[in-house]
Amino acid sequence: MRKREKDETELQKRTGRITITAAVVSVILLVGGSLIYLLLQNILNNTTDTRIRTAADEYRNNIWRLVDSDIQILETFGSFLEEEDVTDERELAERLYEANRNNDFLGMAFFGPDASILTEDEKGIWTGADFETLPEEMREAMEDAAEGEAAVSDIYDSKDMEEDVFVVCVPVMMDGQLRGILAAADSASRMRSLFGEDGGNDYSYVHLIGDDGLYRIRSADGKLPEEVTSVYGNPHLTGEVKESMKAAMEKGDSVMYTVRVKGEIYRVFLEPVGMNGWYLFCVNSMREVVGTAYWIITGTQAAFLLILVFLILMVLSGYRMLRNNNRRLLKTAYEDPLTGGCNLPGFLKRLEEVCAREAAFQKENSFCVAALNIHQFKFINEIFGKMQADRLLQQIGQAIRKELAEDEFFGRETGDRFYLFLRQTDQEAVKERIRRVIGESRMAPALQGSSYHVLFYCGVADTEGQERNGELPSRMMTQVMFALDKAGETRQDDVWFYDTQLHEKEKRENYIESHMHQALENGEFRLFLQPKVNLRDGSLAGAEALVRWVTDEGKMMFPNDFIPLFERNGFCVRLDMYMVEAVCRHIHRWMEAGINPVPISVNQSRLLFYEADYPDRLRELVAKYDIPAGLVTLEILEGLAVGNVEELNERILLLQKEGFRISMDDFGTGYSSLNVMGALKIDELKLDRAFLMEISRENNSRQRAVMEMVMVLTRRLQISTVAEGVETEENEELIRELGCDMGQGYYYSRPISAEDFDRRFMNFIPPASDR
Ligand code: C2E
Ligand code: MG
Ligand code: MG
Repeated sequence: MRKREKDETELQKRTGRITITAAVVSVILLVGGSLIYLLLQNILNNTTDTRIRTAADEYRNNIWRLVDSDIQILETFGSFLEEEDVTDERELAERLYEANRNNDFLGMAFFGPDASILTEDEKGIWTGADFETLPEEMREAMEDAAEGEAAVSDIYDSKDMEEDVFVVCVPVMMDGQLRGILAAADSASRMRSLFGEDGGNDYSYVHLIGDDGLYRIRSADGKLPEEVTSVYGNPHLTGEVKESMKAAMEKGDSVMYTVRVKGEIYRVFLEPVGMNGWYLFCVNSMREVVGTAYWIITGTQAAFLLILVFLILMVLSGYRMLRNNNRRLLKTAYEDPLTGGCNLPGFLKRLEEVCAREAAFQKENSFCVAALNIHQFKFINEIFGKMQADRLLQQIGQAIRKELAEDEFFGRETGDRFYLFLRQTDQEAVKERIRRVIGESRMAPALQGSSYHVLFYCGVADTEGQERNGELPSRMMTQVMFALDKAGETRQDDVWFYDTQLHEKEKRENYIESHMHQALENGEFRLFLQPKVNLRDGSLAGAEALVRWVTDEGKMMFPNDFIPLFERNGFCVRLDMYMVEAVCRHIHRWMEAGINPVPISVNQSRLLFYEADYPDRLRELVAKYDIPAGLVTLEILEGLAVGNVEELNERILLLQKEGFRISMDDFGTGYSSLNVMGALKIDELKLDRAFLMEISRENNSRQRAVMEMVMVLTRRLQISTVAEGVETEENEELIRELGCDMGQGYYYSRPISAEDFDRRFMNFIPPASDR
């Protein structure tokens, strides 16, 4: 049991270790995976950023190039006017108109002290124009140019030209004097076309905005509604981003942000153009910017995630497999392969679990434990063979299973002992259920068609009146054994409940177990002798040594009260040797006193008989007391022969060689077999009291015939016979008729103390010092 518990904890430890390893591996994978993910994300961001910056730089350069080329055209025209020295307003106007028709400008103008001219391609010439009526943006640029440098206006919606325009202005000098300002209006759409076709595509847009946040040139693909005229009105940008953009534009910085729109990640880049407070507002989807790289990275991430999931699944399934394996192992440790129920450790474990669970939930459901056993199962093994006996056990298992409710269970200890856990305490109901099991078990194939009547006996202990504590399971198991022993005393199907009477027995046994060693040392185990009488002449043929326990309080206990317990706890081995020594000592005393000794039989338990040094110890004892071994008869029980006649015979021969006589006790009880008797090389056969009782009571002629056969057989095998339990003259007469050699029983004498025996049968009063 302890080993199995150890195995279980070992398995639990192993499972724990694997779980921890799996958890650590998963954490490492997760952390590693996250790091790789961040690294990839970083690479992706950097690549995207570089691409956006490069693109933005190119846009900015293109804007500058466009404006520069416009300025150059104007400056060329200006220097031409200087060289030609055209001063007449009319001529100047015509030249301007001519030039306007030959270039791409939407309109041109010249404003100076002597002239104020406006021309528009194909529309005509206006002279004497009023500077103050010009659009504000144009006026500001012209005023800037008057300072001596070329200037560009902001983009504005021109009413005359019916489109967005910007104006380029250059000063025209003559002899170091400002002659006037030459201006040209260019279409904003030319600037838009610099941003690629339609100013963007599905993934990227470029807008030109002013430092006031208002759009100047909008990408056609910007996907923003018309009414949004300012970046600050863009619904996809957070307040935080907008604030930061505002701050950046105040300082003239460029900034980069990440924006998430409908699951798509965008990088937003704000870059000053360096002209009119204009900014390029570039929006790029990561996917587009790095193209296949994006897919590779995302693919890698996905693959990595898949691997991680796969690994986790693998670890999980490995863990599950191990757990199932453990369960299977535990199952074999706790299962009885023959019946499919529990084995004893398994049954105990479940019983303990039930009790612990009830204690945990403070429930006190009543239940009982029943132990079911077969009378003389070993003989069934012998008569029907192991296979049939196994089938009988299986049939019992099936019968029990049929009887059990859902939360009830059963177990089997090796052999024929079954344990049942029943959620019932009503004695009649329990008896009824057990009887059903017994009835059903009798259907076993081994028993079908045979006249052999298997007898069951059953002990039950229930929770009524029990103290509910951790001891309950083991206490109930002890109690059920008491009840089983009690039930086993009868020779019929019987169910015994552990009760106060058995409780007394339990207490008595506890007392015995705790006092037996001391009692042996104190000499409380006394030698009593019962005479064996020669039936031919009525002379004393010998005696049987029977132990009596006389406690220091003077109370006498009989072997039936303690021998079965000593056989269970092994103390019998010591007590039997002690009795052999007492017998040897007594014979020695007779011999020393010059009395003709008679042989004394001494009962030997099964445990002792097979002890390796048993013959040596016997030899030592007869040597120590210097008596012939032939005066000591060893009484053994027939059951010793079951399954190992040869081994027993070897033992018998060895002991006989030493001179000891061997007697087989209690013949006729249980399932005595003539075969066994015939096979064993015994010297004496003791017929059990029950044998005699049966013949005399029922005048049973069949039984008598069997007895006669036994007598014929023993005579032929030169085995002497002793009839036990001779209580009356008629008994004596009967056994004499049958041909028995000796009689033993109350008719002659009850077992009496060795001293009384000496006085009554040996005419010997030992000296006081010997007593
Ligand atoms: P057993 O060896 O068969 O001993 C015979 C039993 O029958 C004795 O019971 C004896 O008192 C009883 N008996 C004798 N004649 C009559 C009679 O005419 N009528 C009735 N009703 N009973 C009679 P006891 O002394 O109580 O011993 C019981 C059993 O205990 C013995 O049966 C023997 O198996 C066992 N035993 C006794 N002493 C020892 C011992 O020292 N070692 C071992 N291992 N077993 C012992
Ligand atoms: Mg005996
Ligand atoms: Mg006997």
